Amino acid sequence: TILAEDLINSILPDFSESIQEKEISVTVELGEQELTGDLELLYRAFYNVIENGLKYNVQGGSLTITGTETQDSSQFVIADTGIGIPKEYQDDVFQSLFRVDDARDRKVGGVGLGLAIVKKIIEAHQGTITVEDNQEEGRGAAFSLTLPNKKEAS
Ligand code: ATP
Ligand code: MG
Repeated sequence: TILAEDLINSILPDFSESIQEKEISVTVELGEQELTGDLELLYRAFYNVIENGLKYNVQGGSLTITGTETQDSSQFVIADTGIGIPKEYQDDVFQSLFRVDDARDRKVGGVGLGLAIVKKIIEAHQGTITVEDNQEEGRGAAFSLTLPNKKEAS
């Protein structure tokens, strides 16, 4: 078990160069949410979503990571102000090798596996992942990850 905040804070330094170059303002608003399971896989899952939120972002954009919790689960939203994902493709981006548009995405590189891996990892932890438009910012994508809280041993 790890504090979600600690996990996120261990990922962000990997991207400090692109955050600086693109002048992305990163905001992390997490409480006491904990993550339980295979922590290396969960690291990979959050890493891939954050990586996308930066590489599909625009110069001077923002990336916001928030967490809330209920008794049963914790929900994390990773929202960016990048190029966004057309609604008709928002289900497809979790498929292996799917990229929205080769011409659009070629310059940032990638093969289209990141989110397929994320979905597998989250589902292996009995969680769910969805994406929608980042309505708060009027542009960009917002990924929601929900993970069940660890059950107290009875
Ligand atoms: P990689 O395997 O290196 O992660 P990738 O980033 O292209 O390559 P995915 O992470 O699986 O692959 O994402 C699939 C596609 O979904 C991307 O190619 C891109 O078109 C779209 N996408 C994913 N995240 C975002 C985002 N935050 N903003 C806009 N488009 C996105
Ligand atoms: Mg990716």
